[in-house]
Amino acid sequence: MSKVKSIAEASAAEVKFAADRMLGKLAKWLRVMGQDVIYGQHLSGYGLIRAARAENRLILTRDRKLKRKQPPDFLFIESDHYREQLRQVIHACGLRPLDNAFTRCLECNIVLEPHSKASVEKIVPPHVFATQENFSWCPKCRRVYWPATHHQKMVEELRRIGPLT
Ligand SMILES: [Zn+2]
Repeated sequence: MSKVKSIAEASAAEVKFAADRMLGKLAKWLRVMGQDVIYGQHLSGYGLIRAARAENRLILTRDRKLKRKQPPDFLFIESDHYREQLRQVIHACGLRPLDNAFTRCLECNIVLEPHSKASVEKIVPPHVFATQENFSWCPKCRRVYWPATHHQKMVEELRRIGPLT
């Protein structure tokens, strides 16, 4: 745990994660917060350790046996519930949930780029084009993002989870 703290203190915003494959919902929520998280079916056991080591990522796992495999820095996730899991990661790593929220593609884990309104006219539904001003997109999957009602629900969720600052 002390190692985890030293990473967090060095650069909270730059902590990158490798989430165990059993932590999909936690990985998604960290991406909602704009955190860099790799996640996938191949990421468990030695696969997870290799991937974390290759990119200097902090492992998030619920696998108690992982520590026998001499992993790099890892955070053992205590709870089965994603809200508690997210709370644990936020506190352990000193993250600020809303500072970089909605800046990353939830599918590809890539930072979104701004996209001009004019350029999305043929891509997004007409009512979205008529009512939204700010668009961004993922350079990999080309999905276009815009602030919408689910955004607001996610913000409320993060407020509930986050530290009371
Ligand atoms: Zn994408």
